[in-house]
Amino acid sequence: MNNIEQSDLLFPHITTLPKDYESLFPPRGLPTGAKVTRLGPSPTGFIHLGNLYVAFVNERLAHQSGGLFYLRIEDTDQKREVEGAIDAIISSLNYFGVVFDEGATVDEEIGKYGPYYQSRRAHIYQCYVKELIRRGLAYPCFCTEEELETIREEQEAKKENPGYYGSWAKCRNLSSEEVQKRIEAGKPFVIRLRSHGDLKRTFQINDGIRGLLTMPENNQDVILLKQNGIPTYHFAHVVDDHLMGTTHVVRGEEWLSSLPIHVALFETMGWPMPTYCHTTVLMKMEGETKRKLSKRKDPELSLDYYQSQGYHPVAVREYLMTILNSNYEEWRAANPENPISDFPFSTDKMSSSGTLFDLDKLNDISKEVLARLEDEELYRFLLEWAESYRRNLVSLFLEQKETMLHILSMDRHGEKPRKDLIYCSQIFEFISYFFDDYYKVQDDYPAEVDYNDLKPILTRYLSTFDPTDDRTQWFTKIRELSTQLGYAAKPKDYKKNPDLYKGHVGHVSTVIRIALMGRASSPDLWEIQQIMGELKTRDRITKAIGLL
Ligand code: GLU
Repeated sequence: MNNIEQSDLLFPHITTLPKDYESLFPPRGLPTGAKVTRLGPSPTGFIHLGNLYVAFVNERLAHQSGGLFYLRIEDTDQKREVEGAIDAIISSLNYFGVVFDEGATVDEEIGKYGPYYQSRRAHIYQCYVKELIRRGLAYPCFCTEEELETIREEQEAKKENPGYYGSWAKCRNLSSEEVQKRIEAGKPFVIRLRSHGDLKRTFQINDGIRGLLTMPENNQDVILLKQNGIPTYHFAHVVDDHLMGTTHVVRGEEWLSSLPIHVALFETMGWPMPTYCHTTVLMKMEGETKRKLSKRKDPELSLDYYQSQGYHPVAVREYLMTILNSNYEEWRAANPENPISDFPFSTDKMSSSGTLFDLDKLNDISKEVLARLEDEELYRFLLEWAESYRRNLVSLFLEQKETMLHILSMDRHGEKPRKDLIYCSQIFEFISYFFDDYYKVQDDYPAEVDYNDLKPILTRYLSTFDPTDDRTQWFTKIRELSTQLGYAAKPKDYKKNPDLYKGHVGHVSTVIRIALMGRASSPDLWEIQQIMGELKTRDRITKAIGLL
């Protein structure tokens, strides 16, 4: 039995030839320099910051060059597939502003180079595998798990490199009669690459991020097709990136070690290789040491974290750009209003050692981004967040729209806008004292104020309170009240002569603030009362008095 007969015996149902696919998926004919990139997430149910980081690089490279960015779902590992994961991937990427020109969508596929779900491409992979068998470049392997285990043990005992290669590759040289016998007996098989590589030889490759790399050749007869006829990642991505016209493969560092396999596969297929760009791992500081962000230890690795906390997508995007390109921050400072797409993104400016992820820095950026939003935009953003993550707040937000707009406008306009709003759950926590159902006393009354003075302060405040007072009239009353009870009307008087006073007007105001809002720091007290209205103000103070 020759190779052609063997390939027919192994894949009788495959009647297409590679040339059929080559003509079905011709080169894209884009202008020179236009990059075609893709994101190839696996639907394992965990979409993380690394995916987004890689997505941004891919998106920038493609769109900046007048090229194209597509989404391919790499669902060849059915065991790891989680229900609903594909929708989650797409909607999550969408949330962060990652827009694809082509590829998988939730219910259909867009583009002429599909299918874009690997699980729908089995016939294509099998066609190419069949061709490799025809050409003697791949072969069926019938080894069972137990046989492979025995090989592993022997290799370990002899201190040889592990794997299926050279003389360890038992099925590599099976006679064609033996192959035929096993196939006809219905023995399950995988298809392996017949490697011609040698570990002692090296090759060089230019990584788009890391520059020139020298690596040993691949000598493993790696599996191309699993027993179920579904390809491994190695083979699937090579076939897909070829047929889909990918020019740049941007992917995580974890794939760097299998690059020799991928280079060997492109060479075996006789196809030009895309430019591989391996990003670095995201690290965080733990005390004095840097470590990899971990799924188990760091909730902030998951994209869901940012969505459920209500981080604004622009803030996350801005932040990721600062860690993606070392000159981004400088550019942003010089171009505060420009869209990110104006920034000349470059893989040369990407770090090739670990990238440090710093949540505090993200929070700082978020404060800046939110400070620039209009009140109405911020309100809408909070409402959308509540609709997805805090359904119980939706009716409150809708009913209290005017109040919320008023609250959100406080101190955010003018010369020095406040920059303490970071993400929705924090913002809600920040303003929750306005709403009776969420109001709680968090802080203690100031230590400078004698306990016995609390009641008199609040009672007098209540009796002089007039909601029509302007800010000056209102504050004059608090000063008078302070003096009457032995507190300095001005902090500086108290600082000069602390023995003359019990405390100062600031301490007295804090008592009122705590009674009203349950916390010692807040935006302008007078303005808050204007928003709360007379009834609620009186009610809160009265209740606070009742608790003393
Ligand atoms: N499916 C691979 C992963 O999820 C994608 C790697 C690639 O982009 O080639 O890691």
